[in-house]
Amino acid sequence: MKYAFTPEQLADPQLGPAAKAVRSCVHCGICTATCPTYVLLGDERDSPRGRIVLMKDMLEKGGAPTREQVHHIDRCLSCLNCKTACPSSVNYQRLVDQARTHIHEHYRRPLGERILRWTIAKVMTRPALVRIGLLLAKVGAPVALILPGRLGAMARIGLSARPQGPEPTQFPKPAVVKQRIAIMPGCVQGALSPQIDAAVGRVLARRGIELVALEGSGCCGALPHHMGREHDSQEWAKKAIIAYERGTYDGVLITATGCSSQLKDYAHQFAGDPVWEPRARAFAAAARDFAELCAPLKTTPPQALRVAYHPACSMQNSLKLNGAGETMLEAAGFTVTPFAESHLCCGSAGTYSILQPELSSALRDRKLGNIAAAEPDVLVSGNIGCLQHLAAGTGKLQPILHLAELLDWAEGGAKPANLDLPRA
Ligand code: SF4
Ligand code: SF4
Repeated sequence: MKYAFTPEQLADPQLGPAAKAVRSCVHCGICTATCPTYVLLGDERDSPRGRIVLMKDMLEKGGAPTREQVHHIDRCLSCLNCKTACPSSVNYQRLVDQARTHIHEHYRRPLGERILRWTIAKVMTRPALVRIGLLLAKVGAPVALILPGRLGAMARIGLSARPQGPEPTQFPKPAVVKQRIAIMPGCVQGALSPQIDAAVGRVLARRGIELVALEGSGCCGALPHHMGREHDSQEWAKKAIIAYERGTYDGVLITATGCSSQLKDYAHQFAGDPVWEPRARAFAAAARDFAELCAPLKTTPPQALRVAYHPACSMQNSLKLNGAGETMLEAAGFTVTPFAESHLCCGSAGTYSILQPELSSALRDRKLGNIAAAEPDVLVSGNIGCLQHLAAGTGKLQPILHLAELLDWAEGGAKPANLDLPRA
């Protein structure tokens, strides 16, 4: 694609890779069929190809973007289906990340939206504040459930949470320790589903992996990153890097695939920074996803179940761990039930379910409909965002669990409480 980026723009460590992504796009349109927003809306400006043109114009020109540019770029899920589908290896991620940062720095959103985005960045990244929010949502449940728009979306996600037990700070020690892995607590997961990290600790201990809580770390920075708030995101990344450098570990884990992909991209976040880039690169090289650590283990589960595995976009398009979840479930003795359009985003996409509630709900309904048609007994995923978003869907037909919770039960752990939920 023709472009007019200046040599200075091309040499910029953050803008340069975005400009190179523009240059490598040949405008073929192969990506459009894989784009969830194009599939829903049929508008070229809501396709990867159309958005690349909008982002190119915005970044080349610099300064304040137009309302139209912001509208269509905001509607992008950052699911990266287009990146996987592209035959020209266009790095759409670099482009959309840079575009979000540019919009955050140069576009004045309406006051209500600024407050909402600030709240997501400052409150949802802190589990203690998320817990207070959950309490308020439960107290005000009758009102919260009928709230329209973004507030309603936020409240419904909170109300679908069923936290069991406290957030774990200690994990079982295997008889023979093969690896010692630092585990980051993350942000919302500790408040919404602390049982996930507890299950991960038991599952990995059976494989000789000891988890050690990474004191001083917190959110991975993905939530502010999704909104282009790079300064906030980098502050979280620095905390994690400093915490990791204080100890001696064989790697670092965070138990949501969206967060894993964020950790593995830290080096780019600090590109051009002589102090932080090398430290971020070392940290990113040590980052592990649960699916990378959890070797399949042959077992016979207490109950034969048909399992639908929802591969988060981060699992498919960033971590490139396609098939890993299904392999683990089959080794554990479950029957994995395929369903239509499993490659399409469920609409969770970090902050998207709150910021774009209509499109997000449409994608969730489509996803839940496809899953229901396959008639599974349980739905499993490896990403807290997808789990909460799908659980908040009105079409819920089956219990929804993190992959580790089901594996833990199959391997001798307690039955996950969610498995006993009455069906809708
Ligand atoms: S498939 Fe790749 S090269 Fe073709 S339009 Fe999409 S991004 Fe551009
Ligand atoms: S990241 Fe996803 S939503 Fe955005 S343009 Fe690509 S395929 Fe479409």
